[in-house]
Amino acid sequence: MLRFFRRWHIRRLLREGLTPQQLRWLRERVPIRERLLPEQRQRYDQIVHVMIERCPWEGCEGLVVTDEMRTLISGHAAVMLLATNDFYFDSVQAILIYPGTIIRNREENPVAVGEAWSNGGIVLSWPEVRAIPHYRGGRNVVIHEFAHHLDGRDGEMGGSPPFQNPADQARWNEIAAAEFEQLVDDSRRDRATVLDPYGATNMAEFFAVASECFFERPSELRQEHPELFEMLELFYGFAPP
Ligand SMILES: [Zn+2]
Repeated sequence: MLRFFRRWHIRRLLREGLTPQQLRWLRERVPIRERLLPEQRQRYDQIVHVMIERCPWEGCEGLVVTDEMRTLISGHAAVMLLATNDFYFDSVQAILIYPGTIIRNREENPVAVGEAWSNGGIVLSWPEVRAIPHYRGGRNVVIHEFAHHLDGRDGEMGGSPPFQNPADQARWNEIAAAEFEQLVDDSRRDRATVLDPYGATNMAEFFAVASECFFERPSELRQEHPELFEMLELFYGFAPP
């Protein structure tokens, strides 16, 4: 019954379109949408619409979730699903939005701009989401946290995301380990890298940072790290234009 309702609901949503205001927000504030080919953009808009309507949005600390928030967060995440045909982040249990930075009672990292929990929750700071188009280095907290979520779909959020083919998984593990070592070394020596040095924290952060770079700076990543680019292209099912 639930499966039937899901199918019916999604079919209905796919026939509808985004509102002019939602399209304006996406055009002005999600640069990646503008780079897509027209046929990709059509599918992208459908994914955004389904996510806006179906994802479990929740405001925290008194924040009221607005259409603008749902549109921009869906707009940044939808590009990751461009090659899938019936998955709309249904596995995300809650998208929690905070009005400021997220205060955690943890010593090593007491504040955060986003988090992804192994139980399927995603936490985002709204000011950080709003700042995405202004970052020069390709930083994107939405892609980062949704990448952690995809990584954890096999039960473990450890930087080895679930590939369909086990041989590809093994190849990813091998290439990612070598690239990670390189990034650790580069950041120790203060060498400039196309990948955010935060990726040198651990393998999970490496996958999240590599995903941000793949979608936000595809040509630089392809140029500097062709093998890593190729594996991400295999995982996400297409190469971002
Ligand atoms: Zn992270």
